[in-house]
Amino acid sequence: MVKLIKLTNLKALEIIDSRGNPTIEVTAYSGKHFAKASAPSGASKSSHEAVELRDGGKRYGGLGVLKAVRNVKELMLPEIKGMNLGKQELIDKALIKLDGTNDKSRLGANAVIAVSIACFKLNAKIKGKEPYELLGREKLPIPYFNIINGGMHAGNELAFQEFMIVPKAKSFAECLRSGVGIYNSLKSMFLTNYGKASINVGDEGGFAPPFKKVTEPLDLIMKAVYGSGSNASIALDVAASSFYSKDKYLVNGKKLSTGKLMDYYEKLVNDYPIISIEDPFQEDDWGAFTDLKRRLKNIDVVGDDLIATNQERLKQAVNNESCSAIILKPNQAGTLTETLSVARTAMRSKLKVIVSHRSGETCDDFIADLAVGLGCGFIKSGAPCRGERTSKYNRLLRIEQMINP
Ligand code: PGA
Ligand code: ZN
Repeated sequence: MVKLIKLTNLKALEIIDSRGNPTIEVTAYSGKHFAKASAPSGASKSSHEAVELRDGGKRYGGLGVLKAVRNVKELMLPEIKGMNLGKQELIDKALIKLDGTNDKSRLGANAVIAVSIACFKLNAKIKGKEPYELLGREKLPIPYFNIINGGMHAGNELAFQEFMIVPKAKSFAECLRSGVGIYNSLKSMFLTNYGKASINVGDEGGFAPPFKKVTEPLDLIMKAVYGSGSNASIALDVAASSFYSKDKYLVNGKKLSTGKLMDYYEKLVNDYPIISIEDPFQEDDWGAFTDLKRRLKNIDVVGDDLIATNQERLKQAVNNESCSAIILKPNQAGTLTETLSVARTAMRSKLKVIVSHRSGETCDDFIADLAVGLGCGFIKSGAPCRGERTSKYNRLLRIEQMINP
């Protein structure tokens, strides 16, 4: 008879994330066995994502998570204690019901996602499996390395948030080596041309020189790619909601209409080897996404803030044909079950799925297993720099070694 693996205890702790802001870490127990998970946090959030519970008040500038910590112990544990860890959907369903809101604002999506993932990891650990093995597939993802940071992730005036490179190589290890080569070649160029201050890094480990125009980093990335002898394309996360106001987008110091911004994207795609543009317009402009997708057929139009890892918004995007790829962030959904169901619906609808970190991270490497186990093929976890970014890439190296020894 198969022995049931039951949840016996949950502990929660307020820790700090990579930006020095408080976040929650949960440890799930089954007898003497335990597993930990922690919640990441975005800076350029969608208004449609599940909501983090923060304490308010003066402590930690209002960002403390002691209420979320208390909710784990006082509300969530009594509800799910004794449940079978092999039934993740039932655990998540119980948490969703207990929360009772549409956006997890009562318990806090930060508390719920940490509990959900800690339970999943614990089940894997007790079964002697790696987390990715419980998800069914075994495919290493292609990494999108964010090597120049702008927008809300850096102290410069670049409107676009992320300038990413996507190496072409035979294995994950080779993609990583190529990404590091380009990253270092960019670093030497910055040092020579712009001085030491230009190699400081932003929230996601990319460089954040005092650029103003979008084409400046693009030209330098091209040089770095050639200089390092690598083969790589460019991907952009524009995060347009962050520079949108009163029907206009502030790019390169100019206020552009939706139509003019669309023309600008077309020019960039013609001038550079860009394979995808994430959140090209503000998060509720379904029509503009659809128009861009029709106009630029050879690239991916990616929905992050647009979809917010939300099943209803995904359905709308599929119906409107608003994007060809989505970003998958577990903390936008709030439970692992909802995250998996968004991913699987997207893949069934022939949309690419790119598993993603947040700009505020911990060293929790679960998203590496998520990308492999879903077999979705893509991950973004920032630059190959800073421990909370490299923890995911290093985990992928270890998984690759386990899969292809
Ligand atoms: P965020 O940004 O984690 O700050 O929301 C990441 C992204 O937009 O992809
Ligand atoms: Zn994004």
